[in-house]
Amino acid sequence: MRSVLATITVASLAVTPLPGETAPQEQTGWNWNGAPADAVEQSAKQEAPPYPTKSWFPTVKPGTAANESGDIQMPPDGIAPLPPIDKELTVRRGDTFAKVLSRGGVPSPDTASAIRALKKVYDLRRLQPGTEIFLQLQPPLDRKGPARLLSIDFIADSDAEISVLRDGPESYAAKRYDRTLVPRVSYGRGVIRSSLYVAGKDAKIPSAVLANLVNLYSFDVDFQRDVHPGDSFEVMFEQLTDEAGEPVREGNIIVASMTLSGSTTTLYRFKTKSGFTDYFDENGQSAQKSLLRTPTDAARISSGFGKRMHPILGYTRMHRGIDFAAPPGTPVYAAGDGVVEKTGWVGAYGRYIRIRHTGGYQTAYAHLRHIERGIKPGARVKQRQVIGSIGASGRVTGPHLHYEVIHNGRHINPQKLRLAAGYKLKGNELEQFKASVADTKQQLLSFRTQQKRQASMLDR
Ligand SMILES: [Zn+2]
Repeated sequence: MRSVLATITVASLAVTPLPGETAPQEQTGWNWNGAPADAVEQSAKQEAPPYPTKSWFPTVKPGTAANESGDIQMPPDGIAPLPPIDKELTVRRGDTFAKVLSRGGVPSPDTASAIRALKKVYDLRRLQPGTEIFLQLQPPLDRKGPARLLSIDFIADSDAEISVLRDGPESYAAKRYDRTLVPRVSYGRGVIRSSLYVAGKDAKIPSAVLANLVNLYSFDVDFQRDVHPGDSFEVMFEQLTDEAGEPVREGNIIVASMTLSGSTTTLYRFKTKSGFTDYFDENGQSAQKSLLRTPTDAARISSGFGKRMHPILGYTRMHRGIDFAAPPGTPVYAAGDGVVEKTGWVGAYGRYIRIRHTGGYQTAYAHLRHIERGIKPGARVKQRQVIGSIGASGRVTGPHLHYEVIHNGRHINPQKLRLAAGYKLKGNELEQFKASVADTKQQLLSFRTQQKRQASMLDR
């Protein structure tokens, strides 16, 4: 089946190059910073596809909603980006790691930061001649400056493989893996025709990454109602593949973008100075906005908040929560990050969990069929972590979740939750974040180019 992406690509490539745009440097083997021919041999074999033009980029003004393909907005000043480059280098006698990287065209600041990270997991003196080092580089947007280092990986010894991945504009993180696994930065985008799931599969995005994507947007998007045909998404993520190139484990999402009914929201991963990794929009506002209004899937409200006639007790009383009817066994999620305060049987509530959150909030979940193992007082939970399942324990007429939100000791209507907005980056941290966003955008541009090329090859 030909994917939607391929179709989009053909349309984009059919545009004539603009006058004044010269042929790109791919014919010279990406050799724009003095890397020797042997280092770039592999890339040089790549066939040069039709030259990309300005029309690859959105025609809408930066900062406005979205173009038809849901691109993240960024003005490239008329210069089409180049795709990421893979290089393979062999360690020679007398080489240091820094020497190898510089031979691969890695600029010295990147070399220095990558080596700083590498030292934490690897003894550099153990580098053996003959070792093959794989580099992933991102070409400069202006086609003039040096390429930036995206990742390094190599086999360190008989059972370990080492990878270094860029995790900020000037920083890298190194990890040791079982040597059969190869870390990569991967990318995919899709246009929704029937469902996000199908579009994700067509775009070859692993289901674990799709699940993360849904979690990431669950604050803003009701995936049952808000997603329509023509909506699109884009995601860049870490991935581990085996020696045959098959993905075996999915890593974190680095950046994700969703365009729903013409409006685009992009979220970037960023490690705050307190060491928390979170997702932020372009302005540095955390994606974590509030507690979930509906801490379960596929449920309908069977009883709202407020005064009502109690179905069993038969007199009017205040309903201090919301009831969600769903089949028994439907998972119940923690409405937000927090600490479990109470679990177990609580009279008419049946099996019950209460969680304490920041800002004076608590949430409670009643009539559960089961409580997930490990959900005990003192346990930390993450938002959307499964804590139990819907049941009919306690005083009920049928299976449902009774959900309460308590603020400073007072019950409030969960449907009216407009919680304290999440963390907002400020000052120096915000500046670092913005640098990181600029960096990520450049990576995205490279990956888009790569994907468009691959798609156009398939179509020929
Ligand atoms: Zn209830």
